[in-house]
Amino acid sequence: MYVQGRGAIALLGDSVRRLGRRAFVIGGRTALSIAEERIRESLDASGIEVAAVADEVKDCTYATINMLVERGNDIEPDFVIGVGGGRAIDTAKAVAWKLGVPAVSVGTQCATNADGSAEFVVYTDDHEFLESVILPNNPSVVLVDTEIIAAAPLKYLVQGMGDALTTKFEAESHAEAMRRKGGQMPTNTAIALANATFDSLMRHGLDAVEALKRGEHTDAVDEVIEAVKLSSTVAFENTGCALAHALHNGLTKTGDVKAEHGEIVAYGTIVQVAYENRPEEDVRSIIAWCERVGLPTKLGDICQHDREALVKAVEYACSVDPNADSMPDKPDAAKVLQIIDRIEAGF
Ligand SMILES: [Zn+2]
Repeated sequence: MYVQGRGAIALLGDSVRRLGRRAFVIGGRTALSIAEERIRESLDASGIEVAAVADEVKDCTYATINMLVERGNDIEPDFVIGVGGGRAIDTAKAVAWKLGVPAVSVGTQCATNADGSAEFVVYTDDHEFLESVILPNNPSVVLVDTEIIAAAPLKYLVQGMGDALTTKFEAESHAEAMRRKGGQMPTNTAIALANATFDSLMRHGLDAVEALKRGEHTDAVDEVIEAVKLSSTVAFENTGCALAHALHNGLTKTGDVKAEHGEIVAYGTIVQVAYENRPEEDVRSIIAWCERVGLPTKLGDICQHDREALVKAVEYACSVDPNADSMPDKPDAAKVLQIIDRIEAGF
């Protein structure tokens, strides 16, 4: 179930009532300071008890997950509610899975499309990418209060747009890869949602950013939130990630990345579309859009890799990362490096 709207947090209790009577609420400190009171009010009104609140999630690591699972075993919740950004929500999904109960997502910002997905991304204690794990279930309820998200720092919405920007392109390469390799073809619906995500970003993305800069919560903001949290999630889960995410994983594995997931993926998208020899005007218009909304367009904006580290990152992306299998042909590391150099020099 996906519930989105202004003030939607008041609908949380009603939305999760069928999952049981005891909730374990997991989040980061900032997110819970914003949302905990309203979450408690809504759950209380539906007769749901908050069995425990863990507000110490900083990152999705196995140490945090295991600590919270231990706590969960003591309190025996009927479901787990993750509150916050991708790291808190991914942690909550992993904890719920290990406890054998449903997960619920209450996103308080829009930096990634983690809320609805069945995947969680685990990092090391130093925030290096460790692995992503696909769970047997998606969160049972995804609740998106657009007032809360619109009030969060603008950078999160921009990062979320960066993560969603790639959906169409990775979906298309995945579909082509499946067609050539004889794998499972994505549905027309998934491809349509990937296209809808891209169209919504191009139509509303800049308006949403400008509105939030003026302190206004306009319909464009809600359109972008829906593109990130709903259409891109359903699209990417039913198609596949490809070179853009593979490059993200390679760059974060080699360390020294100072940007966030959506920013790195936006840059990876630029590399992927250029690598695929799409029309230069299309590549340039994506670069221009990224610049206007405030997404990075150069490697130097996201990390300071020396050549050796960059080569390692690209080789990992092309040869080791499983997302590379969603490219029609095995990506050629030398060509990717050439494309990266060309983008650095001004495409
Ligand atoms: Zn992503």
